Amino acid sequence: MEFKKSQKLYTKGLVNLVGAVNSPVRAFTSVGGNPLFIKKAKGTKITDVDNNTYVDLVLSYGPMILGHRHKKVQKAITKALKNGYSFGASTENEIKLAKIVCDAFPGMDKVRFVNSGTEAVLSGVRLARAFTGKDKIIKFAGCYHGHQDALLVAAGSGLATLSLPGSKGVPEGAVKNTLIANYNDLDSVKAHFSAHDDIAGVILEPVAGNMGVVIPQDNFLPELKAYLESKGALLIVDEVMTGFRSKFGGAQELLGVEADITCLGKVIGGGFPVGAYGARNEIMEEVAPLGGMYQAGTLSGNPIAMAGGIATLRELKKQNPYEKFNEVAQIIEVFLLESAKKHGVEITVNRFGSMINPFFTNVTVTNFKEAQTSDTKKFATFFWEMMNNGVFLPPSQFEAWFLSSALTEKDLKKITKAIDKAMEAVAKM
Ligand SMILES: *Cc1c(COP(=O)(O)O)cnc(C)c1O
Repeated sequence: MEFKKSQKLYTKGLVNLVGAVNSPVRAFTSVGGNPLFIKKAKGTKITDVDNNTYVDLVLSYGPMILGHRHKKVQKAITKALKNGYSFGASTENEIKLAKIVCDAFPGMDKVRFVNSGTEAVLSGVRLARAFTGKDKIIKFAGCYHGHQDALLVAAGSGLATLSLPGSKGVPEGAVKNTLIANYNDLDSVKAHFSAHDDIAGVILEPVAGNMGVVIPQDNFLPELKAYLESKGALLIVDEVMTGFRSKFGGAQELLGVEADITCLGKVIGGGFPVGAYGARNEIMEEVAPLGGMYQAGTLSGNPIAMAGGIATLRELKKQNPYEKFNEVAQIIEVFLLESAKKHGVEITVNRFGSMINPFFTNVTVTNFKEAQTSDTKKFATFFWEMMNNGVFLPPSQFEAWFLSSALTEKDLKKITKAIDKAMEAVAKM
């Protein structure tokens, strides 16, 4: 496989772009080599500028759940384009998408659209503080909630991939109200409540996807929620990755928990920049213009993005691919484990719905510390062999692979074949 044109563009890109990428997760820092430049994508396939075509398990880090350029989504956005791109005033489609989203989450009466997951979370956290009148927020090590200052500590994937403990440029003052707990460890949450009486709430990924896939154990979420209720603190569930991916709606219902505030992104925009945060009326009434919490956006509720979101969610609801996702992910899991065993490679596989990934470690992975026992050199070898065999993966041990509803038997064969080759390459290291 040749990457000549990607390499050329990478060199060119270095001049006026930072590392030739607009998001560090796209850099191939931890796997070596240069980032790919993409020409186009359709369905389950993505093609780079050298005309290499891959089965795409990145899917834009989640949004392309129907596969690329689904006919109905393309039709909806083409139609929307004809009426104008942005108005600075409301459109009917905002109401339609809001209804679809609120109907899908039992605890959500109202929603506010923003332009990214980062914005959704930073607004959701502000809202928790506004509603409770308290300042401190607990987050879990390894969970990523976008790049706002306050939550850019122990933040999983991007930082873990680059081996950064946190980010430069974040002042101490910005994180002094951030407390870190351990995923799947309620006692570590309780310890913070014993030490502080001004905790507004806890934010978490209901299924973590940004330290690789890590699943909440047993009753972790319901017990956490009950405990927070007893303390008058809010549960902020960051479903930017899991929303409409785990099921229609979010992971909350599957896991037996209802958020006070839910943050969304990725899938709800169908590939366009959309984020959202929502809650019951009592909480959302804090937000301007109804209440005193200010949050605004020139391009929020963008008409093209709303059209893309509506078409994506309607098609998802119709297809209801969630059972199929479980089946396909299970097939991939079984194959990963069998192939690893055959070649004598130690791995742990975690999956939830359409999110799955192997960790190159022999320990069970239930938190960030355990995820970090993974051998990232083995992952790098595995990654390149997958690429060379036509499967595009996120270039990091600490990212989930994503499935789309467009995946075919043929794609699945290609994936399993590539996995076997890649395990063989790891065994030879
Ligand atoms: C991707 C992600 C974000 C950030 O969303 P952006 O659109 O990249 O700003 C926040 N939280 C979670 C759980 C995510 O997976």
